[in-house]
Amino acid sequence: MQVSRNDSMLPEGIFLHRDKETVWPASANVLAIKDSDGVSLVDVGCGHEETYLRLKDFLSSHGFEIDDVHTVVLTHAHPDHMGAMRFLLEEANPRIFLHPVEMPLAADPSRLNHTFGMDIPFRYGMAEIPRERADIIEYFRGLCPMASAEATHRLLPGEELRLGGYCFQIVETPGHANGLVSLFEKRTGMLFSADAVGEVVAWYAPDSGGLIGFLEGLERLAVLPAGFLVPSHGGVSVRPAEEIARTRAYLLRREEKIVRELAAEPLPFPDLVKRIFKNQLIHLFPGPQIIQCHLDKLEAEGRVRCHGPEGGFLVELLERG
Ligand SMILES: [Zn+2]
Ligand SMILES: [Zn+2]
Repeated sequence: MQVSRNDSMLPEGIFLHRDKETVWPASANVLAIKDSDGVSLVDVGCGHEETYLRLKDFLSSHGFEIDDVHTVVLTHAHPDHMGAMRFLLEEANPRIFLHPVEMPLAADPSRLNHTFGMDIPFRYGMAEIPRERADIIEYFRGLCPMASAEATHRLLPGEELRLGGYCFQIVETPGHANGLVSLFEKRTGMLFSADAVGEVVAWYAPDSGGLIGFLEGLERLAVLPAGFLVPSHGGVSVRPAEEIARTRAYLLRREEKIVRELAAEPLPFPDLVKRIFKNQLIHLFPGPQIIQCHLDKLEAEGRVRCHGPEGGFLVELLERG
């Protein structure tokens, strides 16, 4: 990523908080947008107390107290973006904006097990733990604790959101989360890409919008006249078009790899996951979920056929190159 040394290119009154944690699932960046009434935040970061205290330090370095936060815009209901709501809501009473499909997930985060596709490894008999232990909220508890929150306002794609003196266009970028939104500010050319484009390519799952949704979202971002890009993970980039193209190319390279594996012989689903993802730690999540997204796309295009349980979950390539 073409990262600027500092975030000085941010428009006046907009500040970026990058937490020092760098390992996944690192706390997401927080954008603070100042106005005469106080400050709006885009995402709030992880639910560790020390992460929250660093957020408060960041705000106070710009002259804000936590109760100056009158608006919180959540790009999606994931722990690294909204976990800190558990502390923030004890000290502030902001309006909370969220895409409508993310609202039930924020209110009851146990529903994330569905959008994260936690049933998929069990469907293919490739999970080595009991089903009840595959709980994504438990999984994140030590890494990046989640919170629950009731959204008060809807982020509707195509509509505009006024924060400070700025007007952000709401762009739907699913794949990683069904209601993941990116924000584009036309006058300054600033694109806040959330988890759609960033330092690393985010995981994706069928019930989070899938690969087809992911690619469509990237197309929506690619046509915007963006001058610079602010991701949720990573630093500011002065080459938005390159970052978007790099993300798209990464996804398509993975598809090519899958097709290459299948070209030699049909493979059982678990074997395909293990060939694409060598790291055993992700064989429960998000390896199978990502592979399922690719197979959904390839199947819709008539390029593969996935045989059911009696066929041993065999994945067969229909084309011969
Ligand atoms: Zn996320
Ligand atoms: Zn994230």
